[in-house]
Amino acid sequence: MMDNQPTASLLIVDDTEANRYALTRILASAGFRIHEASTGRQALDMAMALRPQLVVLDIKLPDISGYEVCRILKADPATQHIPILQVSASFVRAEDQARGLEGGADAYLTQPVERPVLVATIHALLRARRAEEALRESERRLERQARELARSNAELEEFASILSHDLRAPLVSIGGCAQLLHEEARDKLDSEGNELLRMIQDGVALMGGMIKSLLTWSRVGAGGIQLTECDAEETLSSVIRTLWPRFEEAGAVVTHDPLPTVRADATLLTQLFQNLIENGVKYRGQEPPRIHVSAQDGEGEWTFSIRDNGIGIAPQDCERVFEMFHRGHRDEARYEGTGVGLATCKKIVERHGGRIWLESQVGEGTTFFFTLPK
Ligand code: ADP
Repeated sequence: MMDNQPTASLLIVDDTEANRYALTRILASAGFRIHEASTGRQALDMAMALRPQLVVLDIKLPDISGYEVCRILKADPATQHIPILQVSASFVRAEDQARGLEGGADAYLTQPVERPVLVATIHALLRARRAEEALRESERRLERQARELARSNAELEEFASILSHDLRAPLVSIGGCAQLLHEEARDKLDSEGNELLRMIQDGVALMGGMIKSLLTWSRVGAGGIQLTECDAEETLSSVIRTLWPRFEEAGAVVTHDPLPTVRADATLLTQLFQNLIENGVKYRGQEPPRIHVSAQDGEGEWTFSIRDNGIGIAPQDCERVFEMFHRGHRDEARYEGTGVGLATCKKIVERHGGRIWLESQVGEGTTFFFTLPK
């Protein structure tokens, strides 16, 4: 296969003028731009200054040996990506070739070299170098994107946190004024005025809840997460203790299979269990809530599942419920909430390097799954 970049520049290093001349003729007529050096020192200076696309390097040089020139070029980050083709008429034994290749040369040919073999070898080396360069470029691009993403995530979290702090103060004052109005001027307002006042108070309460959830979301893992060995059964027990009054009131029963010890941030794991179990109780159907927690041992990760017998989630909502402020049953006033709980769960799981998803049947129940790397 022919190389499609005939203008590549080559540095030919050989102390014998006749050899240089022969190589230059062959390679110039194959379409390369040629620079010539006759000593090791000159080769190093020219490689650094000109950054050729490839160096054709003789081993036997008057000052520094070709092996050493190769070693120096490959050790310097500025020149280490330049392919080196060693060519020698004096060092033709297998161990000479092995030494050249072990020392960092990309190929080694012994003289006399057939012209087509020389040109084809150079084309092959240039192709390999371009493929490497493309790979490095895409790695660099990915790194840049990852840095950019991390930066914009951090900015978003900071923005959400500042916003929730700063929105609180005026909201508290609106709430306070509405409360005063309710206490002192209730009798002077007609029923429409009182209804409007009640709507203001409901709006203030809802917005207060949203701000609080946003703040909770923005604080997940802020300042890094602290991984420790967490016994998931203990975590579940503490969540059950916290939620006990709500369980009693709803007649809820929570059962579980044996649960493992996992590497997780204890506070975040508790928050995750709590959000998911609380939802299982909140979005209950006619039957008393039945929630079952289990964990499956997989390759490199645990998969937890939290199954309920609640009202279920419509297929079109199964992915969107993890979005911030997305509420699936907003038309049903009995389910209070702000739509940030599952967005927070998603963030917690992703901070641990896991995934979260759900399976649901409307009217039958929902199972949330999440993974945690081992
Ligand atoms: P919130 O409960 O405050 O609305 P979440 O982010 O916790 O916010 O949940 C988003 C939506 O997902 C809810 O509004 C509800 O429609 C749906 N949902 C969450 N958990 C369940 C569940 N266990 N069963 C049925 N629907 C659920």
